[in-house]
Amino acid sequence: MWGVPVDDDSGYESTGVTTTLWRGGRPVYDRGKAVCVIGAGASGLAAVKNLLEQGFAVDCYERETGVGGLWNWRQDRSPVYASTHLISSRSGSGYPDFPMPDDWPDYPHHTKVHGYLERYAEHFGLREHIWLGSEVVRVEPADGDWDVTTRVGGHERTSRYAAVVVANGHHWSPKTPAYDGIAEYRGTVIHASAYKDPAQLRGRKVLVIGGGNTGCDIAVEAAQQATRCWHSTRRGYWYTPKYLLGRPTDQANELTALLRLPLRVRQWFGQREIRRAVGDLGRFGLPKPDHKIYETHPIVNSQLVYHIGHGDLEPVGDVARFDRNSVLLRDDREIEPDLVIMATGYLPRFEFLAPELLAADADGRPHLHLHAFPRQYPTLFVTGLPQPDGGIFPIAHWQSVAFARWLRLRETDPQRAATFWTSIAGAPDQRFTQAKVADSTRHWFEVNHVVYLRALQHVLDELEVAK
Ligand SMILES: Cc1cc2nc3c(=O)[nH]c(=O)nc-3n(C[C@H](O)[C@H](O)[C@H](O)COP(=O)(O)OP(=O)(O)OC[C@H]3O[C@@H](n4cnc5c(N)ncnc54)[C@H](O)[C@@H]3O)c2cc1C
Repeated sequence: MWGVPVDDDSGYESTGVTTTLWRGGRPVYDRGKAVCVIGAGASGLAAVKNLLEQGFAVDCYERETGVGGLWNWRQDRSPVYASTHLISSRSGSGYPDFPMPDDWPDYPHHTKVHGYLERYAEHFGLREHIWLGSEVVRVEPADGDWDVTTRVGGHERTSRYAAVVVANGHHWSPKTPAYDGIAEYRGTVIHASAYKDPAQLRGRKVLVIGGGNTGCDIAVEAAQQATRCWHSTRRGYWYTPKYLLGRPTDQANELTALLRLPLRVRQWFGQREIRRAVGDLGRFGLPKPDHKIYETHPIVNSQLVYHIGHGDLEPVGDVARFDRNSVLLRDDREIEPDLVIMATGYLPRFEFLAPELLAADADGRPHLHLHAFPRQYPTLFVTGLPQPDGGIFPIAHWQSVAFARWLRLRETDPQRAATFWTSIAGAPDQRFTQAKVADSTRHWFEVNHVVYLRALQHVLDELEVAK
């Protein structure tokens, strides 16, 4: 629903359901067998669509005033900046049943991606199931069901659902390292989530911290706009150009993955192609990668090396500490930026859920089967969590097809469902990549999309056979 109609002082439309349930003295609106989806970004929209297709009633709550999640860059929490384009290429980025148009460029601009998600919602008639401006503040177990409390304009309301799909995204809560001396530093420090426009860089001496895709993008813009730009990374990376062999790079990777070539052959091939396209990264003053390709999240950027080669961008090592007017690097060099942009990533946050529901460890990292199924709660799901080496939309699509098929199976064949769930509940954590992925929060959910989709296909097949 694009606006939330009001017909009582709670700020909500009456759903016509009885309010005979109570929790802690508050009424609980019983939504029967309906499923609640939290978030109307790319993952939540796919969940709404696939659950509706399986015949479930769905209420989707979205705290912002539009759909599209982080691609809706008008919303405050969006980490998207003016020049953001897809990093994964068009052909592998769309939903399988709603491809991105063939006449789009290989790497569309973020406004195109947002328009695409709006059209997806329109095409599949999802709008009437989405409650905008409704923040989910609590999700609590209730005898096999779930009590979901939403807040609209200060009013809270609790509704009971048979199942909950969490699709709240994991690129909105900045991760900011604590550096010694930063409190005394007199320059400006922002997280990349607050970087929106190159005008913020003009005439400044800029230090960008972080070697991920966002850090590289901002460093490239600073190289063109700032009076001086340093780019600090802790380690060397494989900077992959956006095109290899004349094709978008992820398409070349896709081919080697689908051919099921052993990892070491794929690594040899990938590293050789980067050397052929870019040359020896050390020649540009970049640290030599301390790991093999595919052991960190792919960085796809054709311009970083170009700007280093033109002297507009200076790669530097790790930051040791901040002083009043300067930043000290680990190699004892001192630099004097007046703007520091921390492209240091994001952390997943699920404030509306008790950590044990997602089997989260002391660091807050959830441990879920396929990064999607909490093993102790068969009617709670998380979608969009994997960090693939390609587009997430196809993964989110197939995840929610699996949720929908699973919920249907519980109704149609409880015995078979029980057997299936035993296999999920007892399954150990898996990594879904053969590569020895770096041990950092950024790589908590890193997956090779082909390996992950194969594992998900296995689950889908089991649920299909059992239908
Ligand atoms: C700069 C950048 C570039 C990227 N490039 C690519 C790319 O090229 N290809 C790719 O596949 N992915 C890319 N991504 C990853 C991106 O996260 C996914 O494309 C996609 O947006 C994930 O969708 P989502 O629905 O899981 O999360 P989001 O888009 O974050 O949507 C989550 C939604 O949940 C809502 N929400 C959160 N909490 C609540 C709550 N408590 N109550 C109600 N609503 C809530 C939010 O408002 C939001 O609308 C990129 C990310 C960034 C930051």
